[in-house]
Amino acid sequence: MGRDTVRSLVWTGPAADAPAGTAPSTFELVERPLPDFGPGELLVRVRAAAVCGSDRHTVQGRRPAPCPSVLGHEGVGEITAIGAAPTAEGDPPMPGAVPSTVDGAPLRIGDRIVWSVISACRTCDRCCAGHTAKCRRLRKVGHERFAGTWPLSGSYASHVLLPAGHDVVRVPPAVADAPAAVAACAGATVMAALDSVPASRLEGARVLVSGVGMLGLLAIAAAAEAGAERIHAVDPSPARQDLARRAGASSVAASRDGTDGGIDLALELSGAPAGVRAAVTALDVGGTAVLAGSVFPGPGVEIDPEHLVRGRRTVTGVHNYEPEHLVGAVELLGSARGRTLPWSQILGAPIGLEEVPDALAAQPEHLRTVIVP
Ligand SMILES: [Zn+2]
Ligand SMILES: [Zn+2]
Repeated sequence: MGRDTVRSLVWTGPAADAPAGTAPSTFELVERPLPDFGPGELLVRVRAAAVCGSDRHTVQGRRPAPCPSVLGHEGVGEITAIGAAPTAEGDPPMPGAVPSTVDGAPLRIGDRIVWSVISACRTCDRCCAGHTAKCRRLRKVGHERFAGTWPLSGSYASHVLLPAGHDVVRVPPAVADAPAAVAACAGATVMAALDSVPASRLEGARVLVSGVGMLGLLAIAAAAEAGAERIHAVDPSPARQDLARRAGASSVAASRDGTDGGIDLALELSGAPAGVRAAVTALDVGGTAVLAGSVFPGPGVEIDPEHLVRGRRTVTGVHNYEPEHLVGAVELLGSARGRTLPWSQILGAPIGLEEVPDALAAQPEHLRTVIVP
C-alpha cells in the first residue's frame, strides 16, 4: 500500500434482499488515493478492527445492509490528519473547528482513539430528547454505501474517515489495541444495557447474564465492577462458561432452569426466544429485564402481563448507545478487571484484510476475530 492511499475491503454481496440460494458473499480489495476532507473531519489509520457477530449475519444474508460497503464497526486507530477550518488570519477558530473527545478534550494528530458506531444529526427530535442512538437521520459506521456520501465508514480498511463532531474517546496506554476495538460495539452496548437501571440499584444486585458472547463477558465484568452481589451466567458452551467464571460470574449454568424469581437485573444477550422468556420469569419483584440480543427477526415471545403488573417488573430494550456509554466502555477495559479478562482466549491471532472473507465465512474459534489492516 502506498503512503497516500486507502485500502478498503469492500463487501460486494450478495445482500440480504438477493434471491435465496445465491452464491456466498464476495469481497474486493480496493485501493484509492487518500480522500479530501472537510473541517473537523478525522482521518484515522486503523490499528486494529474486531469482527462483531452482526457482520457475520450480514454476509450470511440474515440481516439487511447496504451493499457494496466496507463493513466493520469495532475499531481502534490513530488520527493521521484533521480537516482544518478555513479561517482568515487573526480570526478565532470556528466553533467545532477543533475536534474534541466526548469529554471535550481537544484531539491531536497521533491520538489513539475509538469511535462510536453511530453518527447522529444532533438536531432531530430524538437527538434533542437525548436519544442520539435512534436519530432519525442516523448513519452507522460499517453500514454505509461505498458509492455514497460516507464510503470510508467501515473499519475493515486501512483508514476510516470520521465526520466532524463524531463521538470519539481516547484510549489509555494500558488498554491494548484489540480489546480497545471491542469497546465500540460490544463494550458500549453493555454499558447502555446496565444504564437501564440507576447505578445505585446495581450495588448488591443479583444479576442474570443470558448468553456469554463478547457482550455477555463484558456484561459480567461491568456488573461485577458496579458492585453486583451475585452474577449468574447462562450459556450452553462449557468453554464460554469457563470464560464467564474468569470474568467474575459467581455461578454458571448450561440451561436457564432454576433462576426463577431471584433476579434483580436480567441482561438478555443471546437473542434466543427461550432466553427472553427466561429473563422475564427470572425477575424478582421490582426487577428489570434488559433485552439487547434480539437484533434479528425472530418469533414472538408470549409474556404474562399479570407477572409484570403484580411484580412491578420492567422489560426494556437497548440498541446502539449514547456517547457516555463509549466512555464507560473504555473505562471498563482500562480497569483492573477489564485488563485481566482472559484476552488470549477471547481474541484470535490477528489476520490481514485478505484473510477476512474466509474468516467471515468460517465458524469462529474465538469470540472476536482481530484484523490488523
Ligand atoms: Zn456489533
Ligand atoms: Zn438526529
